[in-house]
Amino acid sequence: MFGVFLYQTQNKMRTIALLFLLLVSGTAFSQAPNLNGKVEIDMKTGQITCDFMLSKIPNLGKDYQIILNKGFNIKAIKDSNNNTLKYSGYYAGTMRGEGLTYTPLFKDSIMVNPKQLHITYTGAFPIYTDTLNFVDFKGLIAFNGKTMRAADQSKWYPIIYDVKNDRLIEQVSFNIEVKTHGAKTIFVNGDLPKSGPSATFKSDLAIAPMLFIGDYEVQKTNGALFLNTNMNNKQLTIFEQNIVEMKAYYSKNLKIPYDTKNVFIEHEPIEKFNKGRSWGFVAFPTIAFAGIKLGDMIDEQNSKLKDSTDYPFIAHEIGHYYFGNVLQPNSTLFWFFLESTAEYLSVKASEEKYGKAFAIKYFAERGKQLKNFKAKSLNAIKDMNEISGTYRYSYGPFLLRGLEQIIGEKRMFKFLSTSLNAKNEATDYNFFKRNALKSGVTNKEWDTFEKDFILAENAVSLVK
Ligand SMILES: [Zn+2]
Repeated sequence: MFGVFLYQTQNKMRTIALLFLLLVSGTAFSQAPNLNGKVEIDMKTGQITCDFMLSKIPNLGKDYQIILNKGFNIKAIKDSNNNTLKYSGYYAGTMRGEGLTYTPLFKDSIMVNPKQLHITYTGAFPIYTDTLNFVDFKGLIAFNGKTMRAADQSKWYPIIYDVKNDRLIEQVSFNIEVKTHGAKTIFVNGDLPKSGPSATFKSDLAIAPMLFIGDYEVQKTNGALFLNTNMNNKQLTIFEQNIVEMKAYYSKNLKIPYDTKNVFIEHEPIEKFNKGRSWGFVAFPTIAFAGIKLGDMIDEQNSKLKDSTDYPFIAHEIGHYYFGNVLQPNSTLFWFFLESTAEYLSVKASEEKYGKAFAIKYFAERGKQLKNFKAKSLNAIKDMNEISGTYRYSYGPFLLRGLEQIIGEKRMFKFLSTSLNAKNEATDYNFFKRNALKSGVTNKEWDTFEKDFILAENAVSLVK
């Protein structure tokens, strides 16, 4: 399952992958599973073989499934006493997104709360060099002859699905040995990149362990790591300056420090991209780009980005530290609090850098594209996916800009930081309203906002 969002910049078409950040709400589910074991990857044949102990599985009774990428064949699922278990899903299986679903059985019924499972499996994936695929997205296990990428969304490791809460538990603490045939560098999200052909990776914090391995170099700056980028020193310095500036702007205004080092990955997509098209996704704190050379974004002579529209593009991904990590949205306004907020922040950062004219132009251009858009009011959203790609990336920022128009920039940041500091709350419409009022928005102001913006079918023309 994936979505794309297209928008026209001055001279290029760009696609931003919809990211599948965790849906860990924090409420009632504090325990994250632990993944321990090894993965062997052959860069020449595309074969991946795994031997994993999945422990600390949250107690979901019988309401769980194990999901693995459809390209894998299971050798065995064993319990903590090393007994081979029967499981359903091996015949006429059911898919959930990229993976097939399995449930271990005990006496022909779903095994209750298995706590720990030992899962071994293998599979091989195409290596795309001359003939490319019709699509690339975050959910594919992608070998391109030089590098291999497998994000959490691909389900390259066993992922627990919480049936009752319709929730994938992608974040795990881990201790993994990665053995490769033919990889110079290995990176597992959550740890630092290491030299191949084999290395061990560990994270005590639960995180989505994306793999990026292959024949590439690592570049470092104070605030970030760059994998497979091949930038010169000047390009690195300028790129770093832009990130530092964005982080400083966000942390100053939101009053929440931004200490995490970002990891930037550049890789070739396994789908043919027309010139000028690029794609990015986040597996926090990693930001991956395809179809673009980061160094090419830089105007070395003038020490800036060549194209000012790249600034919000990067600032959006950087902004997911706040909306996606500090606050992990859930519930009906999941997409609004994940994407509309990050996009709004990116416009604010760009406005700070390029002046008011930037935001005016941004909203004017988006406004034209949204001319015929009909919004369902946020207070009537019952299912998170009612907020479409266009809604979350394009229309949502108009709503936030509308609130800013009513309460001013300073109080707008107060509202955003109040929301970020909320802990273990469902991010639904009440959350929106409650945190707005808590941050100092008056009832009168909220009512005006609700009437003019939220309840309007299309409030785009109200944003000046
Ligand atoms: Zn985003």
